[in-house]
Amino acid sequence: MGAVCLRARGISSRPVNGGGSPCRIADEHGALVIAWDSNRDQGPFSCPECKRGVTLKKGQFIIHHFAHNPGSNCSYGTGESWEHWQAKYEMYHALLAHPQVSELQVELPLGPVRPDISFRWNNEVMVAIELQRSSLPTADVARRTSIYDEKGIAVLWVLLPRDRFWAGVCCSTKVWERFLHELYNDKIFCWHGGQKLFSTHLDPYKLRTEYRERYNRHLGIWCTKEISHFSKRSRIPRWDDIVQITDLRVIEVLAQQRGQFSLPKARLWSR
Ligand SMILES: [Zn+2]
Repeated sequence: MGAVCLRARGISSRPVNGGGSPCRIADEHGALVIAWDSNRDQGPFSCPECKRGVTLKKGQFIIHHFAHNPGSNCSYGTGESWEHWQAKYEMYHALLAHPQVSELQVELPLGPVRPDISFRWNNEVMVAIELQRSSLPTADVARRTSIYDEKGIAVLWVLLPRDRFWAGVCCSTKVWERFLHELYNDKIFCWHGGQKLFSTHLDPYKLRTEYRERYNRHLGIWCTKEISHFSKRSRIPRWDDIVQITDLRVIEVLAQQRGQFSLPKARLWSR
């Protein structure tokens, strides 16, 4: 049977306007506003990080966004792909309609962390969503996970792009992806559209099987021992099912050692 694509809609991963495109920005009164809810007459706008001017880009065929004015070397919003933007935009609007979601925010500054999306669930717990692409130091994931735990916020790490994993197709994984797979108890969440996620399991990939002859003194016979060798990086993704962000709940986990990873104490938005 051929490989089944978890999701491939052919969305390019070109940067938005060459990068430097924060979603959230200060208007003329210093209030933080979201690009897609803003009008040009609320300007002039400035970046909350570098305090320099940004321009609201609006058009019929583009998601409204802000761009730093020419000459800026500010990193706020840089390196975000088109899909990162689209995921934020779609998640925001899907969650906005949910009756148990309140205080919905995009890129809310929370000291050392700034979740892509955050909201309060059921008037109780705060949830932070971190959208992540291909490269990220594992220490960063661990550090931010601990910060959210200290703040009493449940964190959901979501992988992009949505065609990152193909069911049944052997794939080289990153350390931070395997770290999250352990942290979330043998699954990772990949964005599927709106507030839908693919709960994805990464099966080990067997490189080879070795057979060793051993003499069993007790039984007085030769036995064959089977030893499997697994790839360190390669995994075979298996798609469990599609879940909604609002189907998840708070899962508290203690600091623990799992495989090669020392996992921090964490408060996860998971299941
Ligand atoms: Zn800036």
